[in-house]
Amino acid sequence: MAGKDERTRKNAWLKLDDDERRMAFDLGTRYIDFLNQARTERETTEFIEAKAREYGFVDLKTVSGIQPRQKLYMTRKNKISALISVGDAPLEDGFNIVASHVDCPRLDLKPMPLYETDGMVLLKTHYYGGIKKYQWTAIPLALHGVVVKKDGSRITIRLGEEPGELAFTITDLLPHLAREQMEKKMSEGVGGESLNILVGSIPGEDGEQERIKKAILKILQERYGIEENDFTSAELEAVPAFPARDIGFDRSMVGGYGQDDRVSVFTSLEAMLNLQRPQRTAVCIFADKEEIGSVGNTGLRSYFTENLAAELLHRAGACDYYQVRKALASSHALSADVNAAVDPNYEQVFEKMNNSFLGEGVVVTKYTGSRGKYDASDANPEFVAWVRRIFDDNRVPWQIGELGKVDEGGGGTVSQYLARYGMEVLDCGVALLGMHSPFEVTSKADLYAAYKGYHVFLQADPTRGAGLWV
Ligand code: MN
Ligand code: MN
Repeated sequence: MAGKDERTRKNAWLKLDDDERRMAFDLGTRYIDFLNQARTERETTEFIEAKAREYGFVDLKTVSGIQPRQKLYMTRKNKISALISVGDAPLEDGFNIVASHVDCPRLDLKPMPLYETDGMVLLKTHYYGGIKKYQWTAIPLALHGVVVKKDGSRITIRLGEEPGELAFTITDLLPHLAREQMEKKMSEGVGGESLNILVGSIPGEDGEQERIKKAILKILQERYGIEENDFTSAELEAVPAFPARDIGFDRSMVGGYGQDDRVSVFTSLEAMLNLQRPQRTAVCIFADKEEIGSVGNTGLRSYFTENLAAELLHRAGACDYYQVRKALASSHALSADVNAAVDPNYEQVFEKMNNSFLGEGVVVTKYTGSRGKYDASDANPEFVAWVRRIFDDNRVPWQIGELGKVDEGGGGTVSQYLARYGMEVLDCGVALLGMHSPFEVTSKADLYAAYKGYHVFLQADPTRGAGLWV
């Protein structure tokens, strides 16, 4: 395919040779396994750490000095982590960073969730992130997370994923009685307080009142050692209970929950694990809480990035904090997050000259934001040009993509929380159909393109350009 004008052959499949097509399908198979294993931010962080150890990465806090070719990881609160491949260049020359997020829209249990009514026991939820609430009714749900007892012991819950295992659900109203509901706006058809999860219906022997609830609490006590008050110090999340799978007669796509942004997590992790000796120190950041504004001590508005740089430079013997600032300001970053692919069922919200398409390669987004670029991190054209060059030099299938039509809506990523250090940042990720729904769709060609793009970027030497894939 080399030598052809890349722009006249937009479909990424046509840009892949036979070996690359095989790699795309192989990547797709392993990606589906990953999606089925890592269903929450904690499980994803655990997966990353296990993979890192398997590939010889060691915990940053256990090393006393920093040398080229060291492979390190740093995890905080079991929800945010980073992988580091130390390069030959001095740390204060900066890092090549790819930052993605491990959290996804879902339903969190309230601190006092359990109640009995009408012969059933239910769990109250508070949804997390931008969901269309009606999409979460009438589907099987799994329950994941941790319950921390007062003595500090932690109980891990993962229920509803295995075939034949119990699951949960939120019922929807029958059409026969939904006259009023069906006339409401879609955003109001299912209310936040209607997202209550059905969890039991057999009364126990004890007492006169709330006998079903008491029976469910007995099960929770016997099987997991959980008491009602323990829900107060828990993080329990309901996610769709169906597995990810191949989509299409040609198996060219992947359907499944949580691909925003685990498609970036998986592809950047694969890129990092397969990195050769980089010139600059390469860093993958896997952040939490992006879906609710990157807040808290596990989101990227925290000092995680700065602490990571400080931790590295301190161990490398730097005694001046200015070097931490210099390293971050000299860094290059890709904010690895998904974009919206043009959806043939809803073409009216897209602007086809500037939006991204399924299967046309990894998407480069100069700016995000909404309504006049508000809240956007607008990448500098010099940096965009450099990324274009390393992608083209290394035959990475890529496309340009703004999110939807102007004034139609918009969104943001973690890019602004990296850009504030002065580093160059560009949004770059996979185009998705059905974003934030319980079943999102991606293309395996884009999966491969993202993997290759992140690999090229992490490996790149900004003073020379990367030649690895040529
Ligand atoms: Mn995202
Ligand atoms: Mn999102």
